[in-house]
Amino acid sequence: MIATGAEYRRPPCKNLLRFEGAGVYYGATFVEAQLCSGQEVIVVGGGNSAGQAAVFLAQTTKRVHMLVRSSGLAENMSRYLIRRIEETPTIVFLPNTEIVALEGGDHLESVRWQNRQTGQTEKHNITHVFVMTGADPNTSWLDGCVELDDKGFIKTGIDLSPERLTAAPWPRSRPPYLLETSLPGVFAVGDVRGGSIKHVASAVGEGSIAVSFVHQTLQE
Ligand SMILES: Cc1cc2nc3c(=O)[nH]c(=O)nc-3n(C[C@H](O)[C@H](O)[C@H](O)COP(=O)(O)OP(=O)(O)OC[C@H]3O[C@@H](n4cnc5c(N)ncnc54)[C@H](O)[C@@H]3O)c2cc1C
Repeated sequence: MIATGAEYRRPPCKNLLRFEGAGVYYGATFVEAQLCSGQEVIVVGGGNSAGQAAVFLAQTTKRVHMLVRSSGLAENMSRYLIRRIEETPTIVFLPNTEIVALEGGDHLESVRWQNRQTGQTEKHNITHVFVMTGADPNTSWLDGCVELDDKGFIKTGIDLSPERLTAAPWPRSRPPYLLETSLPGVFAVGDVRGGSIKHVASAVGEGSIAVSFVHQTLQE
């Protein structure tokens, strides 16, 4: 069972590590949304996960500042999400902008961001930052043994292409189980798996589901 996780990309910003879990988050779930209800928040990133986080958090927060290093969203985000962001008045889109400093005591108290084109810096008393800049899977060690998606995450179950299974070839009469890789009896769970939710609970859940398939595989 492969559970080697992923390395989360961190913007090169002073004090980021210090405030992880104390104002800096890497996931936007109902739990985090409750922590910042009615307040202003920052979402960093211009991909789909950042877009989904911004739209989700806009439902319960006062304002979402969406900071993107590039000049627009179209490059990395689905059209429907861009439209939803544009239609949500409480999401403020800030292109060419990055966080340069985080300040506070035990908890994040203020954020300084900079426009990369003008060099202008602003300080805001915002205490919740959602870093949604993606993750790189720990799969290089696999050296092509199992099928990966275009970002290097492991493909499992129905995500495996019939072409690859034919070419491999897939030696079983059954199709791959849920969470099974392109190699029979090898499973992938958690962050390293393509399409995973990137949360502790889901990684643990996938692990327990995969164990039942391991038993089935051993009986084959
Ligand atoms: C800063 C931060 C905050 C987070 N906050 C939350 C949160 O509040 N709530 C939440 O639900 N999720 C949170 N997450 C996400 C959560 O941590 C992951 O979704 C979860 O840990 C995934 O579990 P995993 O077992 O797949 O991978 P991991 O927990 O990353 O475990 C992978 C393990 O494999 C090891 N490994 C890697 N490569 C190899 C190798 N070649 N050989 C042997 N071992 C290897 C690693 O050292 C590591 O110990 C956070 C993540 C980060 C980075």
